[in-house]
Amino acid sequence: MAVNREMGKIWIFGDYRNYFQNRVTLQLISRGKDLAGVIGSETAVILLGHDVHQYAMEYVAHGADLVMVADRPELKEYQVETYTAILERWVRAFEPEIFLAGATSFGREFFPRLAKRLGTGLSADCVDLDIDPESGLLLQTAPSFGGELLAGVVTPASRPQMATVHPGVFQELPHDAGAVGRIVYPEVGDLAPPRVRLLHSRRQETHTVHLEDAAIIVAGGRGVGSREQFRLLFELADLLEGEVGATRPVILSGWARPERLLGQTGMSVKPRLLITVGTSGALQYTTGIEGAETIIAIDRDPEAPIFKMADLGLVGDAKVLLPLLREALRKRVATSR
Ligand SMILES: Cc1cc2nc3c(=O)[nH]c(=O)nc-3n(C[C@H](O)[C@H](O)[C@H](O)COP(=O)(O)OP(=O)(O)OC[C@H]3O[C@@H](n4cnc5c(N)ncnc54)[C@H](O)[C@@H]3O)c2cc1C
Repeated sequence: MAVNREMGKIWIFGDYRNYFQNRVTLQLISRGKDLAGVIGSETAVILLGHDVHQYAMEYVAHGADLVMVADRPELKEYQVETYTAILERWVRAFEPEIFLAGATSFGREFFPRLAKRLGTGLSADCVDLDIDPESGLLLQTAPSFGGELLAGVVTPASRPQMATVHPGVFQELPHDAGAVGRIVYPEVGDLAPPRVRLLHSRRQETHTVHLEDAAIIVAGGRGVGSREQFRLLFELADLLEGEVGATRPVILSGWARPERLLGQTGMSVKPRLLITVGTSGALQYTTGIEGAETIIAIDRDPEAPIFKMADLGLVGDAKVLLPLLREALRKRVATSR
């Protein structure tokens, strides 16, 4: 095997499932490059699977200096035990300083296992990453106390410094077909058959929601009042050619599907315009919308915290204001045709 320093100090787990929608690996490569610049190292993506060369090329095109690939038929499906075993071997062999994964369902499942095996720490669901200028340690910003506080976390004594990161908090680099990077195939060694095997996986057929890329989002909270009222938000979003987002109570009430959740446990978005209706402004929600360029808030409570972050606030009843807004937009769309 090659010498450790040739394998980069900052590793990112390559989660290529649902590649065109799940961009968190690309976002981490971009941030990883910033961090690697500070500590003077390279960014390596760890890619496990079968027939995955195209993804290795994609990662290079999006900024990876190096892609370390294990390509075997038995890695075709995501298998927690097998993946953990390979990653443990490679970490012990090549000793990265930092290892990051997206806080996806898979990252949340296997990264804690890996951290435990390696006897190191792990911060979950980070919303920012930096290098502490004094200590040179990875400064991991993670929600804590149920999201009431953002905590700065460091891993001073054990390696690697591991974190899962919330999708959407960093911006991916543009695709550069001329980018140059190395693709290497380190030894994997013998693999014990896993005790649990995933036989196959199938994508659930749902309408695809592109909240991350939306330029306009109309988001609603409990204050919208009912499923019927919430449908008005879909009409508004259609008129504005935008998408619909929601707070947790809306998802729990079944007024919108879970992929529309914004916030700490949902998506972080960066639209040009976000209209937020009947949302009090809880930190767990506003974490997901603070990247919006302009925020217009509608709420009947003039003291609602959402008004503190809004660029424009309308105090009023959603039941009255939403139909008025819809009529105004319909007229505008009709006259602009
Ligand atoms: C660990 C953890 C993680 C969480 N993650 C998330 C997350 O990712 N995303 C998320 O959204 N939440 C999350 N939450 C929940 C979060 O704390 C809040 O409870 C939630 O965001 C509140 O949603 P809301 O604003 O819709 O409801 P509420 O806080 O109940 O606010 C409703 C608002 O509607 C207004 N209103 C009521 N009636 C009307 C009307 N007729 N017209 C106009 N305004 C009206 C009220 O004045 C109020 O401001 C999390 C909580 C925990 C503990």
